[in-house]
Amino acid sequence: MNLSNLLRRKLALLLVLMTVFSFPGSTYAYEYFTSWYGNNYEFRSGISSGTYNISHAPKAYNYNGHTYDFYQVYNDALWKWNYKSNSNISTKDNSKTGKLNFYASNYGNNGYYGWVHHYNWDGSRAGSTCLACGPKTDWDYANSALNAYEFDEDGYTSYGYLINVAEHEIGHMLGLAHENDVPAVMNQHSWDWSIQKDDVNGVNNLY
Ligand SMILES: [Zn+2]
Repeated sequence: MNLSNLLRRKLALLLVLMTVFSFPGSTYAYEYFTSWYGNNYEFRSGISSGTYNISHAPKAYNYNGHTYDFYQVYNDALWKWNYKSNSNISTKDNSKTGKLNFYASNYGNNGYYGWVHHYNWDGSRAGSTCLACGPKTDWDYANSALNAYEFDEDGYTSYGYLINVAEHEIGHMLGLAHENDVPAVMNQHSWDWSIQKDDVNGVNNLY
């Protein structure tokens, strides 16, 4: 076998691999709550307006020898989403319920670093009531919680871990479900990724 044949074989194999792995999921892989419940669900009034309330996220929360600036973590994570995607929920109003509301505390040993609940304006949950379930209908506002207990329990107390979860939870707030097959902040099996192209595509294509 001469060199040119060898190269051709390698190229052929490469083309086969590219065909297999680029089809059909590479243009998008993000998941919506449709994958959990059968419909796409989103903010009823979109993501190009609306206030957020960050007053329930403490700036210096002390737990078990660590001090957490949950206010800064959420603020940075929201800024990233607003900067990278079509989300523009950028007006802070701490006097009332916003479209996005951020909480953090010691919620005890419940197995979650963070979670999101979706609500209707009358205060009822948007279709499902378990701790970390997606909504079953469109929603008017969403609340996110970060749990100091679990971060501490597993030693993930640094800013990098906290903002990774905050970005992930905001992804849920905007309408994304878990996506575990590609690099994505919505990938629940890794701390490695901030907001990725796949996450941005998912949000932008939903609204
Ligand atoms: Zn999640």
